[in-house]
Amino acid sequence: MRRLLVLVGLAAALLLATPARAAEIAVQSWNTPWDPGAENCAAHPHPPLEVHRFDSKTFVLRENLCATWEAPFMYLLIGNARALLIDTGDVADARMPLAATVYDLLGAQHALSLIVAHTHRHLDHRAGDSQFKGAGHGAPTIVGYDIDSVKRYYGFKDWPNGIAHVDLGGRVVDVIPAPGHNETQIVFYDRNTGLLFSGDFLMPARLLVDDPAAYVASAQRVADFVRDKKVAGVLGGHVEMNRAGEVYDWESTYHPDEHALALGKADVLALPATLTKFNGFYAQSGHVIMIDPTRNLLAVVIAASAVFVAAIAAVILGFRRWQRSHAGARIAA
Ligand SMILES: [Zn+2]
Ligand SMILES: [Zn+2]
Repeated sequence: MRRLLVLVGLAAALLLATPARAAEIAVQSWNTPWDPGAENCAAHPHPPLEVHRFDSKTFVLRENLCATWEAPFMYLLIGNARALLIDTGDVADARMPLAATVYDLLGAQHALSLIVAHTHRHLDHRAGDSQFKGAGHGAPTIVGYDIDSVKRYYGFKDWPNGIAHVDLGGRVVDVIPAPGHNETQIVFYDRNTGLLFSGDFLMPARLLVDDPAAYVASAQRVADFVRDKKVAGVLGGHVEMNRAGEVYDWESTYHPDEHALALGKADVLALPATLTKFNGFYAQSGHVIMIDPTRNLLAVVIAASAVFVAAIAAVILGFRRWQRSHAGARIAA
């Protein structure tokens, strides 16, 4: 019996250690809800990657909540000459079959013309870059994630002003600078579908505000850009709330009744005013939650310091009181 258990254990361990294959990843329809993950991922394993098809040349990929609680979204846009992958997610490990799935979706004809780009340099949007550097996948262009590389690759001469363009062949994607969450943040607009890929700039999730003034200016810039354009959907980097607008716990691996990924043009147009109302710490307006992590950290440090100083003062006061009563007792004796 024990030997049988050991064999079963070994088989399970082998299964877990085997990289998932792209062929196991089913492409689902656009309207299918995303996998909600699980509270206990060890007891309820989930496929690591999900793919939803917007149209025959546009795919949305998402890393499962049980693979990373960040559960970032990535986007594959296929043109006649080149393809653009926007973000590579939070997992470098080969058990996340990102590169294999992307090449499966592309087919052999695009293997030499893939551009791997990022909405911004945070690790949860570029950890999978390493999967595209290996041999056997042609020579994809991997756009650098530092600010100088971003400016250089897209040809921004007066960052954060100006709009850049990536021509995929019969499919032009506009690139709009949108610093504020991060200095390297950009937003992509696909003219063919009218989809706006907003990364962590705008999404039904926590908007972490790093530079409030830059964020407001970017919101105005992107709103001005989309004002006279069709917007079929605003697709961001994460979803962190349910359909009622209630935010899941930080690092939650279970998202029941999750909010739709796509926001709309009205959300983009409303963002400058929403950000202007931001109190600098935490605010929620509809499906936008704004947080300034630096200020919140500072507030916690100040509060913790105040508690520490009060505790020390209480100890000193107590000691002095004890000294006085002790001295009094000795005099009386
Ligand atoms: Zn980010
Ligand atoms: Zn992110």
